Amino acid sequence: MAKHKTTRKKATAARNPGQAAARVDLPRIERAVRQILIAVGENPDREGIRETPRRVARMYAELFSGLHDDAERYLATTFNENHHELVILRDIAFNSMCEHHLMPFEGKAHIAYIPGGRILGLSKLARLVDVFSRRPQVQERLTSQIADLLSDRVHVTGCAVVIEAVHTCMTCRGVRKPDAVMVTSAVRGVIRSSEATRAETMALLLRRG
Ligand SMILES: [Zn+2]
Repeated sequence: MAKHKTTRKKATAARNPGQAAARVDLPRIERAVRQILIAVGENPDREGIRETPRRVARMYAELFSGLHDDAERYLATTFNENHHELVILRDIAFNSMCEHHLMPFEGKAHIAYIPGGRILGLSKLARLVDVFSRRPQVQERLTSQIADLLSDRVHVTGCAVVIEAVHTCMTCRGVRKPDAVMVTSAVRGVIRSSEATRAETMALLLRRG
């Protein structure tokens, strides 16, 4: 049961941002940020930015807190329910960090699943998005990690995850296309194998207005 203990510890850390920060080497980030400021030609002792390394360190501890959390703990509570039709949670706002540039990307996740005998609390679905988004990420992996967890660990009959996000590494730098929205999807089980089910799911997932 050693693994169970670890999970409990992680759970506590995530509920308490102070403890999550304790798992991150804050002084090391502070030193690194100070070096970045010097490297770009700033004076790190200038009054306005003197506290910036400390602030950035605490911010990173928060933005990457998902690295110290365990998604499986949100699956601990499921309910027996004889419902074998679609369950959908749409417009789950999230923000994450592009692992290529350490720039934020943010948007909405939409999740659909067909229970395989057990249903999840809706808030747990939103928590799954948080756990996987609060780490260095790419949107493609974020999408499939959520779908795989539902498919492999909750044993849903089918699931679909669609994520729409704006990447600041694309809007603020590089090609600078502020209106470009990246859309990714991951489909598992019967929603993947049945064309009719997939069409119905996608229509409900992406319904506008
Ligand atoms: Zn990027």
